[in-house]
Amino acid sequence: MADSGPYAQVIVDIASASTDRVFTYCVKSGMSLTLGTRVLVPFGRQTLEGCVIGFSDSTDIPIDRLKEIIEPLEEYPAILPELVALAKEISRDEHCPLALALRLMLPAEMRAGRVSVKTQTNARLLIPGDELKEALEANSRSSKRRLLLNILSDRLEHPVAELKVLVRDPLPSLRLLQEMGLVELFEEEVFRSPYADPARMDPDPILMPEQSEVLDELIPAVREGRGRFLLHGITGSGKTEVYIRAARECLRMGRGVIVLVPEIVLTPQMVSWFRGRFGDVAAVLHSRLSPGERFDEWRRIRLGRARLVIGARSAVFAPVKDLGLIVIDEEHEPSYQSESLPRYDARDVARSRADREGAALLLASATPSILSFAKAQRGDYMLLEMLSRVNARQLAQVSVVDMREELRLGNRGMFSSLLLSRLQACVRAGQQAMLFINRRGYAPSVICRKCGGAITCSQCDVKLTWHQADHALHCHYCGQKTPIPELCPFCGSTFIRPVGAGTQKVEEELAKHFPDIRILRLDMDTTSGKDAHQTLLDRFRSGEARIMVGTQMIAKGLDFPQVTLVGAVLADLSLNLPDYRAEERTFQLLTQVAGRAGRAEMPGEVIIQTYQPDHFAIRAAARQDYRSFFTQEFDRRRRMLYPPFTMMIRLLCEAEREEQAREVSGELNRRITKIMSEEPSLRRRVLFFREDASPIKRIMGLSRAQVLMKLLEHPDSRRILLLLKELSEEPWPCRVSLEINPASLA
Ligand code: ADP
Ligand code: ZN
Ligand code: ZN
Repeated sequence: MADSGPYAQVIVDIASASTDRVFTYCVKSGMSLTLGTRVLVPFGRQTLEGCVIGFSDSTDIPIDRLKEIIEPLEEYPAILPELVALAKEISRDEHCPLALALRLMLPAEMRAGRVSVKTQTNARLLIPGDELKEALEANSRSSKRRLLLNILSDRLEHPVAELKVLVRDPLPSLRLLQEMGLVELFEEEVFRSPYADPARMDPDPILMPEQSEVLDELIPAVREGRGRFLLHGITGSGKTEVYIRAARECLRMGRGVIVLVPEIVLTPQMVSWFRGRFGDVAAVLHSRLSPGERFDEWRRIRLGRARLVIGARSAVFAPVKDLGLIVIDEEHEPSYQSESLPRYDARDVARSRADREGAALLLASATPSILSFAKAQRGDYMLLEMLSRVNARQLAQVSVVDMREELRLGNRGMFSSLLLSRLQACVRAGQQAMLFINRRGYAPSVICRKCGGAITCSQCDVKLTWHQADHALHCHYCGQKTPIPELCPFCGSTFIRPVGAGTQKVEEELAKHFPDIRILRLDMDTTSGKDAHQTLLDRFRSGEARIMVGTQMIAKGLDFPQVTLVGAVLADLSLNLPDYRAEERTFQLLTQVAGRAGRAEMPGEVIIQTYQPDHFAIRAAARQDYRSFFTQEFDRRRRMLYPPFTMMIRLLCEAEREEQAREVSGELNRRITKIMSEEPSLRRRVLFFREDASPIKRIMGLSRAQVLMKLLEHPDSRRILLLLKELSEEPWPCRVSLEINPASLA
């Protein structure tokens, strides 16, 4: 490794545009530094933390203006050279200061020394066994010291804290024994552990035929450190076992593994399975760890004690040395796209890391994203499939209930008579049910309760969103506004109104039908506490409650053997989102939900309530037929000119005050108009562009405005992107970010 030249290039840990450059410092003779080491440096009148990103033998800076590095913060480079390179790439691609990109590589609390290494005092016997008798005699007057000598005679190291359980206040006696040369007291670093249970070593199951076939492709790639794979495996096909076997091969070769999961609190079983097979070699990284736990898990990885990491999005930056495999579970999940600066996509970062570090990449899902599956069809990923469930377990029986028909029959409630009668039967049989509201996003749509028609923008084929403020329907893509029609444009009925049921409403309604039954609710409101989520799940698993009501949170990777009935209360909620991915999200959510029923021996049943029973996304989900969904949706994207045939581009402006944001977005719009009029050849690649307040006007205290643009996938569009990038990087009075196909247009 390139060791300390006389000058070090340092990125100072302040993330502002004015300090976004490399500063040169002098390295004192005798101080040994390596690339990626965090250091303390004088900066103006302050002392700041920074990171060494390079060395040089000479500098143009006059010697009297050069300052010296004060000291390294750790004796090892906290950021691996590969990750320094990755940070540079992210800073370039996402247009953020390098200091900000480097922060991704560290647990937040490590900066500014908000967390430190924890140590404990241990005691151990110093004398050989045959001298023990003498020692005991020498201490015959103190029963405490004799007890301690006896305990320590097993020759193990005992933490003093644990001796306290057996001997009251042992430290003075231990000190005395140390002075007598019989016992040694020493400090040891300890790692705070987030695990309640000790590591186990579970046995391997015998692989299913499809698992073996998939591994026959994967293992050679892992051995050679190459290859990109997309695994389409239906719910319950045993994908986790595939990850485990591929990971083991990688560890066997002495290389490291990263396993990404959408949201770790939602997949506690995944962690438990990996811990059960790899013991302490596995580490977890996620936001719900305490700062000490997170720092220590990070250190276990950095120091090579843990070589397999399971974590949420940001774990893609884990300091795993000699990375050999990255797995992305549920690769279709939007949570892999970061919404805060720097706005990276963990799937892209994983790909870049895999290429740079010579690792295999495995994306997997029961419902791969349209973009990934299209890439697999182009040969960009190798497609692997597992289309049957482990032990030939049956997929759940799915019924689609037409809610228009319910209304016709006089049922104005939110539960169909089928769902109510199945719930009753389920509860009577002592089994459990989950009711699910697939709500993602915030926008209430307007539908006709008689015919199920949803009001759609004539230009964009996306659902219009009802805005309470002006009682109008807005198109979030092109900006068109229309009043709610008095009569349904499809069937002429007057039953046309905004819909948007919440979990709480469902819970209340349910309680009216089942006054004697315990119901649990799982949503953002009930799971905000640290362990609230786990506690609720545990209570449900224990059988304390018969019915659980929740948002899509409950659709993910959970395995409740007693659940035999799953209901999607109103599938249309996600179908009517003002987003070109509404169909895709709905298919994904319903397929995942259906996968929750009948996981154990008992067969499962799924009831999907909808106003649009003939919609292709709902029909395909009911049959759990990914291929047919993909074909139809891909075709729709082609017809309607959505990604991957086009790019949705957004220039997002965020400012303290709304007028500031709108001023900048207005100016951006004028500049783009000018570029387009000057270069008609480029204009032809632009399907539309417009400027507006963002659908969600304020997020985290900042007002938002945007320029939205749709570009054809065409070589010329790259030039437009470059121009937009340059435009976004000009010194605007507020933050401007350029997003390509953002996960949310809110
Ligand atoms: P998926 O993630 O594909 O939905 P899981 O990985 O959750 O599926 O596996 C479903 C269930 O099957 C789990 O309970 C898992 O322990 C079990 N399982 C997986 N592979 C095997 C196998 N080869 N033999 C027996 N059980 C298995
Ligand atoms: Zn109608
Ligand atoms: Zn529109």
